Amino acid sequence: MSRDDETRRAWAVIDTGAVEANCGRLVDALSDGAELCAVVKADAYGHGAAPCAAAALRGGASRLAVAAAAEAEELRQHFPETPLFVMGALTESELGLALDAGAEVAVWRQGFRELCSRRAAERGEHVRAHVKHDSGMGRLGERDPEAVLDLARACAQDPHLELAGVWTHFATADERGDTFFGEQLDAFRHVAERVRELAPGCTVHAANSAATLREPGSHFDMVRCGIAIYGLDPFQEDPAAHGLRPAMELRSYVADVKRFPAGASAGYGRTWRAPADTWVGVLPVGYGDGVRRGLGNVGSVLIRGRRHPIAGTVSMDNITVDLGPETEVEPGDAGVLIGSQGDERIGAEEMAKALGTINYEITCAVSQRVPRAHGS
Ligand SMILES: *Cc1c(COP(=O)(O)O)cnc(C)c1O
Repeated sequence: MSRDDETRRAWAVIDTGAVEANCGRLVDALSDGAELCAVVKADAYGHGAAPCAAAALRGGASRLAVAAAAEAEELRQHFPETPLFVMGALTESELGLALDAGAEVAVWRQGFRELCSRRAAERGEHVRAHVKHDSGMGRLGERDPEAVLDLARACAQDPHLELAGVWTHFATADERGDTFFGEQLDAFRHVAERVRELAPGCTVHAANSAATLREPGSHFDMVRCGIAIYGLDPFQEDPAAHGLRPAMELRSYVADVKRFPAGASAGYGRTWRAPADTWVGVLPVGYGDGVRRGLGNVGSVLIRGRRHPIAGTVSMDNITVDLGPETEVEPGDAGVLIGSQGDERIGAEEMAKALGTINYEITCAVSQRVPRAHGS
């Protein structure tokens, strides 16, 4: 870190070497011949799309997936040759953007298939279509296997379209012991076998990170991993148990250290009062940076290798922490909100648990105000 980085109010350090290693770890576990598609939507879950995509490709990913056309447009500027797949629904103008970016698209209903066909004809090019089966997620895709087959057949027979893939998405892959996952997998396997007869070269894909780690039978031709490539655990436990290394740390620093007499309050609404004489540290980071307000009087911060509880509400731009009756903490000390310091670690999983959410939402919430420093 340069001095400049150390004096920022809050910043996220992204270890692209960890992203690369996590991808390598996933690739090693893939069933024969399956490819890794790195999911870098939502700015790589808050980690920075382009640098993380580059790291994922170094680590063995061969394709990139995003949710939105504008995300594909941005990535195409950095990766002129890499296959890009837009997983989400597209409006007519978004479809134009996605095709300009040379992306493959999800086809989830006949109406959209027809739109793709018209657009492809106008442009004089082929659109690569991935027909979606709703095997139980209840979002995009045809539920009825025969309707999926009809959609696939229509793509295969359309001179302007190429049936590039058939795919689905799991609703409960991250819930251990759940049986719905197996039902979805069986339903999709049958559909995929029949679609493959129409287009033997098409890519069959289903698994997200949880399915990839849990069930090799879900790998098919390609897996779509997001959360795991960032070193986070889809099961909300310890990522190290799967050989994954978290890529993001969220840091700030102590801007002031103040003596609080018993009864003195910190923060809006005076939700915390010093139980006895104590020291309070002020860190210039808040919910405007993505440190969620629900962490008030619940979360903690690492300073000098020790955990200190957040005292009072989280403000937009500041938090206060209880340093205890005796402290060596001084203004300028580093504060870690997500990450390690000394022997202590606060994972995105731990923060998520405190908030009743999942690690995905924690890193996505780190706002644009927080500069990302990428390095390995
Ligand atoms: C986000 C997403 C993924 C990646 O899921 P992870 O749980 O982060 O691995 C895969 N497929 C689809 C359709 C998605 O929307």
